[in-house]
Amino acid sequence: MVFGAFTYIKYTELQSIVRQKNEQDITNVTKIFHDFLVQSETMLQVVGTTVVNPHISKNPKEKTKIFDALQEMNPAVIGFGYLDPQGNLLISNKDLHGKKINALEIKEAKSSFKETLKSQHLVIGRSFFFKPLGQWILPLRKAIHDKNGRVVGVMAIAIINTQKKNLFSGFETELDEDVLLIKNFPTGYYRLFYSNKKGNLDAQKFYGESCPKNTCTSVINQVLGLNHITLQELKNSNKVFSFFSKDIQGRAINGALYYDTKYKVWISVYHYNSAITQEIYKDIALLVLLYIVMMLLFYFLFKSIEKYENAKERDLLFKTTHDLLTNLPNRAFIYENVYHSSKFIMQNGAQIIFIDLDNFKNINDTFGHIFGDKILVIIAKRLQAFFTEIDLVARQGGDEFIIINNSQNKNPQEVIEVIAMPYIVDDIEVRLGASIGVSVYPDDAQDFDTLLSLADIAMYEAKKVKNSYEFFTKEMQEKNRVNIVIEQELRSALQKNEIYMVYQPQIAADGTLHGVEALVRWENEKLGFVSPEEFIPIAEATGLILELGTYITNRSLLEIKKIYAQLGRTFQLSVNVSIVQLMENHFLKNILEVIHNVQFDASLLTLEVTERLPIEELDYVLPLLKSIGAEGISLSLDDFGTGYSSLSILTKLPINELKIDKAFIDELLYSHKDKNLVKTIINIGKNFSMDVLAEGTESEEQVDKLKEYGCDIFQGYYYSKPLKKEDLITFIRSL
Ligand code: C2E
Ligand code: CA
Ligand code: CA
Repeated sequence: MVFGAFTYIKYTELQSIVRQKNEQDITNVTKIFHDFLVQSETMLQVVGTTVVNPHISKNPKEKTKIFDALQEMNPAVIGFGYLDPQGNLLISNKDLHGKKINALEIKEAKSSFKETLKSQHLVIGRSFFFKPLGQWILPLRKAIHDKNGRVVGVMAIAIINTQKKNLFSGFETELDEDVLLIKNFPTGYYRLFYSNKKGNLDAQKFYGESCPKNTCTSVINQVLGLNHITLQELKNSNKVFSFFSKDIQGRAINGALYYDTKYKVWISVYHYNSAITQEIYKDIALLVLLYIVMMLLFYFLFKSIEKYENAKERDLLFKTTHDLLTNLPNRAFIYENVYHSSKFIMQNGAQIIFIDLDNFKNINDTFGHIFGDKILVIIAKRLQAFFTEIDLVARQGGDEFIIINNSQNKNPQEVIEVIAMPYIVDDIEVRLGASIGVSVYPDDAQDFDTLLSLADIAMYEAKKVKNSYEFFTKEMQEKNRVNIVIEQELRSALQKNEIYMVYQPQIAADGTLHGVEALVRWENEKLGFVSPEEFIPIAEATGLILELGTYITNRSLLEIKKIYAQLGRTFQLSVNVSIVQLMENHFLKNILEVIHNVQFDASLLTLEVTERLPIEELDYVLPLLKSIGAEGISLSLDDFGTGYSSLSILTKLPINELKIDKAFIDELLYSHKDKNLVKTIINIGKNFSMDVLAEGTESEEQVDKLKEYGCDIFQGYYYSKPLKKEDLITFIRSL
């Protein structure tokens, strides 16, 4: 486009230069030609007048002198002659071997000779081959008149008309363009002279015959057309006109045209376009070169900009679709490539593996986040190495990874093993477990979003066991659905007054009442009775436990305080405290506030915390438990024996009571192993001066056995199920 414009501008510019040059050239040529004719005319007039002078005509020496002078006028002048009005050549400086010559008898000379007789001026005749001289000549004739204006004779000059010698030969003008002189005779347009430097021309055809149609006249017609003028106007204009045409061979030419009114000659000067085109080509070649160089420059500039932009874009895309720590694809990548396009194809049977590292928080807390990050990077590398290109390993965030396992020969157990291999970072060796949930495409779901949520559900199940995997099942989903409803309903349970407390008596070995354990109950209009084992974990996971816990403590203390008053006696009250509650910043402050509000005796309160205390948080937990103890509140370690915490930590914790988990009591009579364990627990408790409570005692045999081993307190259906407060009063009274 730009190039085209350049070329066009260049072309038109060149054209105007060429036009100017043509016009200048024709002006020069015309001037030479015209001057020559004027000079010739004067000479012929002078010579003619002299020749007819009887004195001179009788003096041959004088004659020769004049002839010589005439000859010197122009080297191309070959001969001179004087003719009578009837066309007879009377005098000539050339030896014509006595031949009689009559101009009217030469067909090429006839009409111009007649014209000469009628004209006051010099007249140019047709170019013709003059046999006596054996030359192509161009005749210039001038009528010589007497005092009365009668024609007495005609003076003529013959100019050699060849390419080498012609009327322009005498002038120092180097014509690099073609000059063509044309004149209109009654028989048609004839070429008078053609410079034609480039080659020989067939003079007979070129000068001997009239111009073929559409050659000589076409240029004239073009000029007329272009300038909207008539032929007469053109002739009288005394102006130079530019034209573009074709020569006989069809080659494009451009030139300038001028009509010499005085001598009635068309003068045309022209160039072959090829010359211009060559010029243009040269310029264009340069332009093309320049253009190419420019384009290349632009190309490389744009390329490098594009490369930079692309790189930037790719970089940005990579950054937004990849996890910066591990360089693994992230959720955005999955959304981009799996959800919204099918760049990554899940094959039939593909497993969506959802990995959540176990206790990864400990690693961060113990060794710092940089250390933790290094572990994550190692895990990423291990997973990538383990899986293949047809699989997708992504980091979901935190300590969670997602794998789309297209390789049918890889399984989740192997993933656990891969993660379980020891990590050595900064000379520290650590081991990690992972909980893995798996869903299968397309059996479980067709879309990735759902598959991922199903794998998450399965992972949640695996998390209960830890370092294990679970395949998603319909039951899990059902349970999940129920859990979602539970969560929704639980949010309004307190306001709807659906929550209340029951109390399960704890009986001392001597049969007296030791205390009660407060257990929460929830009766929902939609769900009916919901077990705390179902909704407490949900309350913990959603944080609802904090509000619920405060309600439980407040309500339990209030109710039991009332019962104290009603019965006129006191007993221990055990309240279950979730770890989520315990770890909350204001836990102790809140409890003390409730105690204060209710005016409850802190020494009658026991808080039950499970053995699954976050041992890793010991730095926080231990001072907290000590503070609790310092307030006179007792602590009971619930579900003892089920956790895997080392018994040695017992020595560190300010625990007042151990609650042997129901699972051991169940097996007490049948399992030798459990019997020994229960015995051991009771002994440990004794050694650390703790009370030992057996929960879930359902039979007399169990109670007897436990008493035999030295157990202090018993709780279970054998004595009583958890009771509503009215029933508890009745129960206690009945003791
Ligand atoms: P837990 O603290 O171990 O409570 C003992 C559970 O064993 C109670 O179930 C109780 O009803 C049941 N139980 C007692 N004796 C027997 C028996 O002889 N046989 C059988 N089969 N079961 C017996 P419950 O009330 O359904 O509570 C279940 C769990 O829910 C509790 O276990 C505790 O972890 C949690 N929980 C209950 N109430 C509260 C509460 O107020 N706050 C918190 N944070 N958790 C609670
Ligand atoms: Ca308990
Ligand atoms: Ca328990």
